[in-house]
Amino acid sequence: MPRLAPPEVDRVAAAATAVAARRARAAVKRDIHDRVRSAVEVVETAWTQPAKAAEASLRVRDLLTSIRGLGPTRVAKIMSELEIADSKRVGGLGIRQRRRLLDWLVARENRGHPKTRARLVVLAGPTAVGKGAVSTHIRENYPDVHLSVSATTRAPRPGETNGVNYFFVSDEEFDELIESGQMLETATVHNAFRYGTPRAPIDEALSNGKSVLLEIDLQGARSVRAAMPSAVLVFLLPPTWDELVRRLIGRGTESSVEQQRRLETAKAELAAQDEFDVKVVNHEVSQAAREVVDLMSIPHA
Ligand code: 5GP
Repeated sequence: MPRLAPPEVDRVAAAATAVAARRARAAVKRDIHDRVRSAVEVVETAWTQPAKAAEASLRVRDLLTSIRGLGPTRVAKIMSELEIADSKRVGGLGIRQRRRLLDWLVARENRGHPKTRARLVVLAGPTAVGKGAVSTHIRENYPDVHLSVSATTRAPRPGETNGVNYFFVSDEEFDELIESGQMLETATVHNAFRYGTPRAPIDEALSNGKSVLLEIDLQGARSVRAAMPSAVLVFLLPPTWDELVRRLIGRGTESSVEQQRRLETAKAELAAQDEFDVKVVNHEVSQAAREVVDLMSIPHA
């Protein structure tokens, strides 16, 4: 005969664990209701600290009904609009569902507050599409935006300044930055050099209410999305493929082998555009920059 029930001792232990988990979830719901914690704080804890089981195992429905002023009928309607099934738990949401839920919660928290939260915006796109030109334009024209300065193991190009365009470091120094936990994300780009985003300046800018722009590659954008689901991912598109090729060859800074390698990377990168929240076509740099800055809800220069 197959064993249909666990032995008595296991059942007792399992029941005790289930009771403790229910109590922990009830405490989280009470905190939201009493405004000790915001719902945004709870979901961000669930997504960034998976060890916090109570937040992650809370049903989305229960999270929302804990918010004052939201009854079951309204919650059912909101969940259907957010395309989240009734049984879903906060920790079990897909990346797009997380974004929709977070945006909804942030918008609700900001009602009546004209000043919105500082945002982390990630600008990615194929090689030579003009990400550098767009971010330079933003640095020069929108001082309210903090531009992240990446570290890289590649050598400076003519006109590039250490600490402004990049921190140019050796392989050993790059290893040290990773080992000491200072990097938010790192990637090897075009199978050649390593690039990475230092974490501390970003945390500092966001906590001071300053929006942050990261201009990084696709792998980096994916890593940031996993670490910070509240980040807005922007994909910069060339007006056409031919225009992208023309821009890459026109720059004249890479060998033909390197150009070929970058075009291959660009093709793969273009295929990933649907993973992004927003697409901006780079017809003209200042217009594209403005569209990116508009996503940060900050005053224009
Ligand atoms: P470049 O060498 O032309 O300045 O940059 C090459 C590629 O590296 C670009 O696609 C650029 O967006 C990307 N990149 C620059 N900084 C970072 C970074 O910190 N992290 C990642 N993942 N990619 C970066």
